[in-house]
Amino acid sequence: MSGLPGDLVDALAYAASQPTLVVATDFDGVLAPIVLDPMSSRPAEGTIEDLRRLAGRPGVHVALVSGRDLATLSQLSGVELDGPVRLVGSHGAQTSTGRDWGGLTPSQTAVLTRLTRQVRGLRESARDLRIEYKPSAVVVHTRGLAETAKGAVTTEATALGRQPGVHLKKGKDVIELTVVRADKGTAVMDLAAEVSADAVVYLGDDATDEDVFERMGPRDVGIKVGPGPTAARWRVDGPAEAAQVLRRL
Ligand SMILES: [Mg+2]
Repeated sequence: MSGLPGDLVDALAYAASQPTLVVATDFDGVLAPIVLDPMSSRPAEGTIEDLRRLAGRPGVHVALVSGRDLATLSQLSGVELDGPVRLVGSHGAQTSTGRDWGGLTPSQTAVLTRLTRQVRGLRESARDLRIEYKPSAVVVHTRGLAETAKGAVTTEATALGRQPGVHLKKGKDVIELTVVRADKGTAVMDLAAEVSADAVVYLGDDATDEDVFERMGPRDVGIKVGPGPTAARWRVDGPAEAAQVLRRL
């Protein structure tokens, strides 16, 4: 039985009746409940199977969209890089269909090297700070830090994000400093345009997912997972309900 709001069930049914549909979803906080150690994140049972089943339907294009780099996203989700479910990593800078950013320019490499050194310096404010290294970004994870350390690290990391050539993305207890400009909204809408989608269903829980929700049209179904301000038309409580949405589709 579905615990989803009736108007959401209707909207999903309408989207599913379209000849060409894109179903895209964020990973962390949507398919995978948030955990303290970002590398121990795993999808909830059945969700990846449901994505694969959807991807097998005629006219349905499925994508897993994340801020994680492509290799990590594939490893944690268990979705292969060359399978029917597309992977979109680094907020859209990397895709499993090969539309990659083609490597960093020398100046981006120089900025990333300096940035990496600066971020390591943040450990002076928080010794246990978790730092994640991506091909095009350095990510600071503040989850689990004491409030004073979290405040100091957030302020310092935000300042680093104002340097030339650096783009700042803030999520839930995550500050990403990237040298490649990309956003999930552009990535999802590019996919929709590529396959001439009649409708898009998207699920996301974080600030970076708002770039998708803000660009959705009247036939699209944007679903915010969990609390917080959003441009999405619908909201569900958490990953358990997000799994129900996929099952319902
Ligand atoms: Mg998320």
